[in-house]
Amino acid sequence: MIKEIIQIGDKRLLKESVKVERADIDSKETRSLIKDLLDTCKANFEDAAGLSAVQIGVLKRVFVVKRTDLEDEYRDQWEVMINPNIKILDKKESLIWEGCLSINTGENRLYGPVYRPKKVRIEYYDQKGNKRSLDADGFFSHLIQHELDHLNGILFLSHVENPANIWKEDEFDKYLKENRQYPPIV
Ligand SMILES: [Zn+2]
Repeated sequence: MIKEIIQIGDKRLLKESVKVERADIDSKETRSLIKDLLDTCKANFEDAAGLSAVQIGVLKRVFVVKRTDLEDEYRDQWEVMINPNIKILDKKESLIWEGCLSINTGENRLYGPVYRPKKVRIEYYDQKGNKRSLDADGFFSHLIQHELDHLNGILFLSHVENPANIWKEDEFDKYLKENRQYPPIV
């Protein structure tokens, strides 16, 4: 079912989500939560690359991410990650301009520059309860760390020190079109 995505100001976004019990991973309740996450992402297909359960109001350690690390033709695959843990593989940081489905909608959506460890390994359970692991680099690494932050009640805006670096979508798009590069970080 397509769910409403809760927005900044809703205090649930600042709460830590709880682990899914092993016995509950392959349950009707979890299956329905995963379906809701995927349906909601697909309904927002133009800008959704990931969504955490808390963003549809369920405080469980579950998120879905698009496989942006794969070749174009496979990028529409979604990975379900339950009870994820991250290990940093390369502490060197990379910079990505991030946005979030919970930080405004349409032309009011906000974007900001975020530095995160460049390379991480994520260990998680898939929807069948199998233990899996993936190494992620660049954008995909940011995507996973952004979603894991949600499970810990952290929004990407907390990583942007100077509010002057936060841009509204319409102005950000206009800047990119006119300058063909990201705005300088101030
Ligand atoms: Zn987000």
